Amino acid sequence: MHISDFLPKNGLFDSHCHLEGNIEQVMGKSRQHGVSGVFNAAIDIKTSKNGVLLAQKYPDYIKTFIGIDPQVFIPNHEFFLGFHYSDNQVEDFRRQLEEIYSSAKEAVIGIGETGMDFYWIKDLDQESQQKSKSLQLKLYEVHLQLATQLKLPLTIHSRRAEKECLEVIVKNTLSVKGIFHSFTGNYEIAKAILDSGNGLGVNGIITFKNANDLRDVYKKIVGKLTGEESPEFFYQKGIFFETDSPFLAPEGKRGETNYPYNVKDIFEFFVNYLK
Ligand SMILES: [Zn+2]
Repeated sequence: MHISDFLPKNGLFDSHCHLEGNIEQVMGKSRQHGVSGVFNAAIDIKTSKNGVLLAQKYPDYIKTFIGIDPQVFIPNHEFFLGFHYSDNQVEDFRRQLEEIYSSAKEAVIGIGETGMDFYWIKDLDQESQQKSKSLQLKLYEVHLQLATQLKLPLTIHSRRAEKECLEVIVKNTLSVKGIFHSFTGNYEIAKAILDSGNGLGVNGIITFKNANDLRDVYKKIVGKLTGEESPEFFYQKGIFFETDSPFLAPEGKRGETNYPYNVKDIFEFFVNYLK
């Protein structure tokens, strides 16, 4: 299996965003920019349910990932739920997500965002780092089991944990694939992700002035382009485009609210930069 088998084959879509604000306005502007659809990513049970409602309301344009962001187990993070969670309580998230899925299968494109984040824990004491890592891993495995069971793709948050996130997938299942969204790792891990049939998510970071290393990674992966390549050309290779809006607005708009229609600018920047 390849990640592109799980996702639409045509058109430029936003493969990872967090929808908010005036949805009809956001959709209208995205359509004007030629964006064929948007995939909302949940961060907890509440946003999973909201994502489903949005996708049910606008079934031809919005689908949603359902899941719990790993940052719920990172102290000082706004999503932090605490370290008191038992394995059973983490397991229970799977039951809750499965229930959400069963109530609205057609609204759900996949599972996430899930994964692991070692960036925000790097300054914590040793014990807190270990606690955070073990809870994040448990939660990630719960998502992998659910994705395997439901045959759905994953959207994976892997900041400073790309290798670890890939190892867990490869070890646990061969049938489920994911997009390593907002990928910022090195060439070796990028290649390992693509070679394993998983995907990479390119967002506004690729346009940032200080993102030369990341641009070099993609240069090495895709080689020289003509500038005429379609989104599908990249999907087949496992490369997808996203905004992660409202975060990570592209260069020139940094600090502003990001919107799904900016995926068009990200795609054009990517193709033009690499030609
Ligand atoms: Zn996100």
